[in-house]
This record gives sequence, C-alpha cells and structure tokens, in this order.
Amino acid sequence: MAFTHNLGFPRIGARRELKFALEAYWQGASPREALFETGAMLRARHWRDQAGLNLLPVGDFSFYDQVLDMSFTLGNLPARVRDWHGEALDNYFRLARGRSAAGAEDHAACCGGIAAGEMTKWFDTNYHYIVPEFDANTSFSFDASRLLAQLAEAKAQGVTAKPVIIGPLTYLALGKAKDGSDKLALLPKLLPVYAELLAALGTAGAEWVQIDEPILVTELDAPWRKAFETAYAGLNKGAVKLLLATYFGRLRENLPLVATLPVQGVHLDAINARDEVEALVAALPGRIISLGVVNGRNIWKTDLNATLSWLEPVSDRLGKRLWLAPSCSLLHVPVDLRQEQKLNDEIKSWLAFAVQKLEEISLLAKALNQGRRAVAAELAANAHAIATRHSSKRVNNPEVKAAVAAITPELGNRQSPFAVRSVKQQAQLKLPLYPTTTIGSFPQTKAIRLARNAFKAGNIDEAAYKSAMRAEIKHALCEQEKLGLDVLVHGEAERNDMVEYFGEQLDGYAFSQAGWVQSYGSRCVKPPILYGDISRPKPMTVEWISYAASLTAKPMKGMLTGPVTILNWSFVRDDQPRSVSCTQLALAIREEVLDLEEAGVRIIQIDEAALREGLPLRKAEWREYLDWAVHAFRITANGVADETQIHTHMCYSEFNDIIEAIAGMDADVITIETSRSDMELLDVFERFAYPNEIGPGVYDIHSPNIPDQAQIIALMTKAALRIPPERLWVNPDCGLKTRQWSEVTPALTNMVAAARELRAKTQAA
Ligand code: GLN
Ligand code: ZN
Repeated sequence: MAFTHNLGFPRIGARRELKFALEAYWQGASPREALFETGAMLRARHWRDQAGLNLLPVGDFSFYDQVLDMSFTLGNLPARVRDWHGEALDNYFRLARGRSAAGAEDHAACCGGIAAGEMTKWFDTNYHYIVPEFDANTSFSFDASRLLAQLAEAKAQGVTAKPVIIGPLTYLALGKAKDGSDKLALLPKLLPVYAELLAALGTAGAEWVQIDEPILVTELDAPWRKAFETAYAGLNKGAVKLLLATYFGRLRENLPLVATLPVQGVHLDAINARDEVEALVAALPGRIISLGVVNGRNIWKTDLNATLSWLEPVSDRLGKRLWLAPSCSLLHVPVDLRQEQKLNDEIKSWLAFAVQKLEEISLLAKALNQGRRAVAAELAANAHAIATRHSSKRVNNPEVKAAVAAITPELGNRQSPFAVRSVKQQAQLKLPLYPTTTIGSFPQTKAIRLARNAFKAGNIDEAAYKSAMRAEIKHALCEQEKLGLDVLVHGEAERNDMVEYFGEQLDGYAFSQAGWVQSYGSRCVKPPILYGDISRPKPMTVEWISYAASLTAKPMKGMLTGPVTILNWSFVRDDQPRSVSCTQLALAIREEVLDLEEAGVRIIQIDEAALREGLPLRKAEWREYLDWAVHAFRITANGVADETQIHTHMCYSEFNDIIEAIAGMDADVITIETSRSDMELLDVFERFAYPNEIGPGVYDIHSPNIPDQAQIIALMTKAALRIPPERLWVNPDCGLKTRQWSEVTPALTNMVAAARELRAKTQAA
C-alpha cells in the first residue's frame, strides 16, 4: 500500500494573496491581524488543496522565508535585532528586509536602523533565503511557537500533519560565520535545541517529522560527514519518527552515510536520482523509503505509465514501506493550472502545476494499490497528453534540429584572435582610454510602465505604443549625449524583462498568466515556458537599436540576452538535455547578432547575467556545464567580423572559480559587478591573466547612494593595479532600470568626470 505525502506547498497563494497582504502590512495600510488572517486562510486552503494525500506538510508556510523561520525557531537572531522592542513579527521582517511595517518602526529613534540579513539562492533554484548568521559565541534557544501553533491549527482542521524543519547540518551549512569561525563547532550547542524541538512536536501529537538535509546531495568533506553521524546519533530521543529528506540531486558517495543515520525513513529525489533507488532500497531494510516521483522543479505532466513501469516492482518489494511524493517541495512551481485561461489548449494539456502534481501522486498511488485498471481512464488520458506532446508540430521543428546537427566547432570561433581584433576595432571606434558606457537599461519610469500596460490592455494601439517607446529612447539618448558617455545604449524602454522580451518573440515559448513562483519575500517571478524547438521568426531588436543609432554619431551598443541566461530563467523542456535547448537558443540569438551587425551596429552586448546560477550543485559537474554553456555563448557571439566588438555582462561578483570559463567566452569586453567588494574580487587577476578588456563596475546600482568622483577614481586606480589601463572600461555594476533619473544623472556625471580625470592622469604620467 503506497502512502502519499508532500514535502511543501507554494505559500504565496494562487492569486498571490500573501504578496498583497504582506505589502499592505509593510505599507501600514492594513493591521497585523489582517496579515495573520491571510496566513491562516492560505494554510487552510492549501491543506484542502492537498487533501487527497495521506500526510500533509505543516510549517512549510512562511511569512517570508523558511530558513529565517528556522533561525527564529532555533533562537538564532543577530544581536542587532534582538535588542529591538516590540513584536516578534516585526523583528522577523526587520531581519528579512531591513524594516517592518511603517507604523511598527516608531522604535527607529531609540533602537537605530537595522541591516537586513544577507539573501542568497536556495541551492540551484531561483528562490532566495535569508542567510543565518553565526559567530563563535552564537547560542541557541528553542522557540517552537510557530510550529506548534500551525500544528494545532492543522489538527483542528482534521489534517494529518507532518511538521517540516530544516536539519541541523543544512542549517549550519547555509549560514555564514561572520567572524570566520568554524560553524561545525556550534553543533554541540545546536543539537540540544533540535532534541527539545522534536520532543515538543512529539508531545503535540506529530508522529512523523520531515527533516530536510539537502546538502546531502552535495560534496561533503570529512568533518561534515562525521558531523552527520554525531548529530543524528543523539538527535531524536524517540519522541517522533524522522523522515530525512534529500532533494535536488543524487546522493552518490553520501548514500552509505545516509543509510547509517538512525532515522525511520529517507526521501530520495527519484527524478534526479532514479538510478539510486535500487541502492537505497538495499541499504535501508525495514525502513520507510519515500520516492520523489513527480518533478517539483518543472511544470510538465509526469509520464505516469512510464513511472509505473519502474515503480511497480519497487512497490512490490517495499509494500507499505513505500511513500510517494514530489521530488522536492512544490515551492518552485506555480499553484494551479486551472487558473490559466489564455494558454493554448494543446500546450496546456501537457502541463501540471502544484495542485495537478499532487493529483498525479494520488493517481500513481491508486494504480499501485489497486492496479492500473482502477485508474485506466486517467492513465489513458495521461498517455495521450504525453504522446501528443512528443509528436506535436509545435514542439518539433525539423529545421531547428537540422541546424543543431550541422553545428561545427568553427561556428563558435571568431575570425582572428583578440590581439588582431582589438586593433581593427579601435581603428573604427576610436575610443578614448577608460571608455565610459552603461550596462543597457535606463530607468523604467512610470510613464514607460503605463504605456506598456495600456498597450497590453488594448487601450492604445501598436503605433501609439511604438511612438511612446521611441520618445523614451530619444530621451535616453539625449541624456547620454549630455552626460558625455562614450558608448551609448538605447535604454531598453521597450523591454519588460530581459528574458520575457526575447521569449515572447521566439517560437517555442509559451507564457502563463498566473504562473507565479516565489523568488524572495513578496517578490515573485513568472518564468516563461520553453516547450518546443526554438526559432526566431523575425528580427527582435534591430528596429529599436537602429532607431537609437540614427539619433547619435557616437557608437551605439546593441543589447541582447544570451542563451544561457534565457535558459536558466525559464521553465525548460524535460524531453531533451538543457544543453540542447541552450544550443537552439544560441542559434536564434546568433541570427539576431548577425542582423544587428548587418544593420551597422558595431558593438553588441550579449548579457549572461545568469551564467553562474546554472552551475550544478556538485563541483565535479561544473566542467561539463561550463563547456556547453560557454560553447553556446560562443555560437551566439562569434559569427561577427573582427571589427565588430562583442561585449558581455555578468551581474555577480564571485567569479574567481569560473574565471577560466569566462575568459573562454572570448568576448572582447566584459562588464561585471565589483563596486561593493571594493575591487577585491579582482584579486583573481594576480593568478589569472585575463586576456581581453574588462569594465569592473564602479557604481552600485542596487543602492540609492550616488558614488562621488573620488570614490570612482579610487576604485579604478585599484583595478588598474591588476589590469592594464588600456584594457579597462568605466561603467556601473548593472543596468539602471530600477533607479530614478534623479539618481542616475548625478552618478553618471561623476563617473564620466572620473574617467576624464583618469585619462588626464595617465597621459601626464
Ligand atoms: N542589459 C540588462 C540591463 O541593463 C542587464 C541586466 C542584468 O544584468 N541583470 O538591464
Ligand atoms: Zn547585471
């Protein structure tokens, strides 16, 4: 009898109710009680949505972030927030985002301002968590109030509940020791708090507790492996049964370690680690094995018949010991497909969001428990959907497949090496030393958003929208001329989002109306759905860039998003490797690059903002990813003549460990984020001689602060210690779309003045 459960449900709400409730609370527009009510309403609704399962998660709901919740549960709050007066909820938001509700901030005068906790990506997802802070003196204290209250709430609603917590090793691993001390040294202080917590949950009636340890799918060194053994040995005094949950990858060398841990069950991500099911079954005699058989990271229907074919023998062996679940928490997928009214029916028939994924789990369990015949109609419908997707003309484009098959290694190579190209480029562009430029976007003003919304709603026609955008482009050009920048951009007014803009124009992409996924706090993203072979029916940017170029005598930089970034920010196909989808994107964007060149654009920037995020969780797999990702970029960029200058941009600062791959992209110029780290990250250039030109960002565009000329000169002077001045550019860290013109104009004025001063100094020397 296979048993069903869920690891976690999206909490934002099908209509993003939580987002709106949070924002109303923060703005002081609605009281704390209203926020609590929305939370309770969503929890109740989500339990109803999951009612077909045997065991439901509790504690997966969060007002901001599950890791921050855990920090509160463990009493691990930085001193700067502990001293605040007032409600726990307000301290929670202060740590999450620097401030709580408008009205709750009356204490600011006596308590001072607060720095928000650092935010970083949850494994290889696009979800961001608040990084726990540690130092050698960190102590912990137990506060189960949130979990106990939700458990009671679930019980009152007749829900058979399984509290979900983050395990002690993953919690430590995800945090940061602010003083550089050894995080593992905190384990003896941390474990008693976990033991107390488990005891309290047991007393409150929880039979099972799900303890998440996803770091078990990453490479662990000996002390961490040892720590797993010691931690779990003393963790559970028998108050509850523990289901150790691992997800996002294979256990590999950690599988034997997992088998030694004294837990009553283990969850394995059987989407990513299908080939480990046998080994796990063999290693865990007598214990519960939970298999994640429905993908919690994508939006495709599961092939139920194919799944049953490998699952049935496993079920025969395990009987009651088999549990079924999604591969990971459903936090990473949208809530309910039934909300989609505009998706093409055929494409829609291939999709499953969170609610549908849970229906699949129930169906699989029924097929295992009662035989396939008990769900014959459902299985037939599923088989039909899978088959139509497989054979659909929408998905398969023979021309694209032929183009991919025809790729030769030369396609990714420039005509000449950088040394030759750079001389030819300089002869054309005649740029000064320390050339100045920006990363692409200028402020997305209210006027721009209003025009776009009016166009989308059908209130203005295409001609009116285009002329509004042209006016914005003209304005951006005018401002750049006044500022005296050397390489200009059109400003990206016409782009809502750097991926969506291209996805909407490429064949093979679909867009949901309400497919929101939480990115952090109240912020959600709606990833486009890459469902078919990718092709470009017509030029996507040439008209806008050519118009901008016609307004100036200065070099215009054409602006594109690269294939790896488009891939990493989309829901992608599961019927072919990511690398193949990426290559198709590369061929499509390559056509755009060549069209821009043909139109006379001499500088083309191809953003790869998300290259780093695609790195596999295991270092051993980095090489393979970087190989195909870099190759895709090279296919996109390198078809141009020597005279055409290729730029790329990456908005992250840790690139030490992938600098060789970045150099391998062979862009003529790369612009990167550096200002916050005071150029320290350029230290890598002591070890690695970066061969091409580089623009280390000198203006932190994430902050409203305006850098002054002296600051910028100091940063560039530091950079010039590592990189010869002839190869340095002066630019901001990233695009300016989230800033106001009132900030951008003075900042860029200072930046241009700094570049002039640097030139004068170099010439005088
Ligand atoms: N060209 C894009 C912009 O300026 C780059 C954004 C990014 O790197 N995230 O907005
Ligand atoms: Zn950026």
